[in-house]
Amino acid sequence: MRRVPAWLPAALGAVVMAAAGSLALRWHSGAAGEAALAPPAAPAVPARERREASGEAPVVFRAGFAMGSFVRITAAGPGADRAAAAALQELDRLDSLLDRFYPGSAVAAVNAQAGRARVPVPQEVAQLVELALKIAERTGGAFDPTVGPLVDAWGFGSEFERRRPARPPEQAAIERARRLVNYRDVKVERRDGEAWVGLARPGMVLDLGAIAQGYGAERAAAVLRAHGVKSALVDVGGEIVAIGTRPSGPQGANRTAGSGPWRVGVRHPRFQDRLVATVLLEDRAAATSGDYERCFEYQGSRFGHVIHPFTGWPARGLVSVTVIHRSATVADALATAVMVLGPEKGETIIRSWPGAEAILVDEHLNVRQVKGP
Ligand code: AMP
Ligand code: MG
Repeated sequence: MRRVPAWLPAALGAVVMAAAGSLALRWHSGAAGEAALAPPAAPAVPARERREASGEAPVVFRAGFAMGSFVRITAAGPGADRAAAAALQELDRLDSLLDRFYPGSAVAAVNAQAGRARVPVPQEVAQLVELALKIAERTGGAFDPTVGPLVDAWGFGSEFERRRPARPPEQAAIERARRLVNYRDVKVERRDGEAWVGLARPGMVLDLGAIAQGYGAERAAAVLRAHGVKSALVDVGGEIVAIGTRPSGPQGANRTAGSGPWRVGVRHPRFQDRLVATVLLEDRAAATSGDYERCFEYQGSRFGHVIHPFTGWPARGLVSVTVIHRSATVADALATAVMVLGPEKGETIIRSWPGAEAILVDEHLNVRQVKGP
């Protein structure tokens, strides 16, 4: 696991099994495997391995750092400890492929050759880029994995804390960066088991920051499942995958008798110790995007790290978006897209996205729930 950078806030995105305080919202879909808003969750359980002599399956908790965020894995059942360790390793492996700041990563290699040559990449990377391009197309470019130059212009790059911007960049710098952003200029080729990714113009920057954590959470969950784990919760920087239901008994993750869906608290975007909702998850994922993690304030306005690819300015209108979907990868990308699209267009896209549900918090802190077909 990599070193935790200084800029990382103590609480990120959705908090797992956080303290009570959710709004009195009701959103019960009923069917198993679907998310539903639940009554406030029980207090968090200390982050340590728990084994009790009750005959119940042991529950293990493992924490690490990957993809620029804290990682937390809670897993139950025989072999859960080894499975969780393998899942953390999987996240390390993905970091070394997908992080554009990781020297020698596939994405860094693609960026180094922007405007010059296509670069051979593992099939997995090409597939993820293809999915990112598909979501870019479906969201009308609101989600755009070539947003890198704008992210850098705003100073939301890897060394965020050291270079934390004091003010917005010059409009001319935003314009220059904006001209380098267009997902249509990414070419993916796959042939005979080989794959390449290329960027058409020099200066373009592939940035998978809005989808990689979701993908990582999904892959980590796949590793747990491959180890036979039937009950687990994976949290990669607030992108969460629930496997099965939470374990039953006194060592069940939130100390309630009996099993049931995992409960995931959605953090209030303005009050760290409050939740806006608690989501029930069973074999589903939830991803949160907000303006409150990596952000700065200037002249009374807040500027977050989700950038509108057309205006070149941080997204406005929504301050937190949580998307629930079977795929954490899709949920992650979609949450970012909805942040960019804003309340109306964001709601429209969720309503048209099969299997998607979302909790939107607008800039007046109104909370809305939306469901796709
Ligand atoms: P997330 O927290 O999932 O919304 O991802 C935010 C990160 O994704 C930022 O730090 C950028 O690296 C990148 N990003 C920012 N704006 C966009 C956008 N409009 N489309 C795709 N990626 C973006
Ligand atoms: Mg995202």
